Amino acid sequence: MKLTFLGTGTSHGVPSIDCMIHDHARCRKNVCREALRDPLHNRTRCSATVEYNGRCVLIDVSSDFRRQMLREQVKKIDAVLITHCHADHIGGIPDIRSYTRDASLPFYGSAESMDRIRRSYEYVFDPPEMRGGGIPDIELHQVEGPFELFGCRVTPVPVEHGSLRGAFGYRLGDLAYIPDAKQVPDAARGLLAGVRCLVLDALRDERPHSTHLILPESIALARDTGADQTYFTHMCHDIHYRLDSALLDTNMSFAHDGLVVQL
Ligand SMILES: [Zn+2]
Ligand SMILES: [Zn+2]
Repeated sequence: MKLTFLGTGTSHGVPSIDCMIHDHARCRKNVCREALRDPLHNRTRCSATVEYNGRCVLIDVSSDFRRQMLREQVKKIDAVLITHCHADHIGGIPDIRSYTRDASLPFYGSAESMDRIRRSYEYVFDPPEMRGGGIPDIELHQVEGPFELFGCRVTPVPVEHGSLRGAFGYRLGDLAYIPDAKQVPDAARGLLAGVRCLVLDALRDERPHSTHLILPESIALARDTGADQTYFTHMCHDIHYRLDSALLDTNMSFAHDGLVVQL
């Protein structure tokens, strides 16, 4: 199994418009400016591919989907897992049409996520008379529990993400991917038992957030799961990958766009 981080940034991305255009002073570690010359600080919106058994599964279709596909030269996508329906995770859906020329593309996610996609992209599901080639060919599949996908068991992991209903992480074999969470409820912790590689939300280094884990909470949760290796993602400009690495255990690291992990 091959995991590729397409994007590792929070919803604003890094560098952010706010820091680069409106208010330089808000960038207390200067990460946004460093991102202009340091690719490890350039964080597009959160997404990943997982390749196994000759198939490519995309997790979320981020607002930076087009740029990520061009950067990683992704040739095909066989299925899409949606973690939740916030705009940074579904904003690239119009551009997925380039991957649905030959066949429709199955999307999997919670009832809430599937419903939001149907409403946000009404033109895809309730097309005008003139269809043309501009509309992605998508099938929405609502999932509530584990299912088989190309010979791998995929388990949705329900998480708390503010007041949003139907937010998931996903477990695929030895990998668990949880980009947006304030907490993994006790009832779902068992789904992470035995995970070797954990990818986890770590929005910033301090100041608790209402909908996201911050680094001390992320570290505690990673220790609790007992994963062999943890990669933190969905980071804002308050995480400096070099300076803040000192805060991590030896089996933890900050992910970066383009990072590839073989499992
Ligand atoms: Zn997000
Ligand atoms: Zn979110």
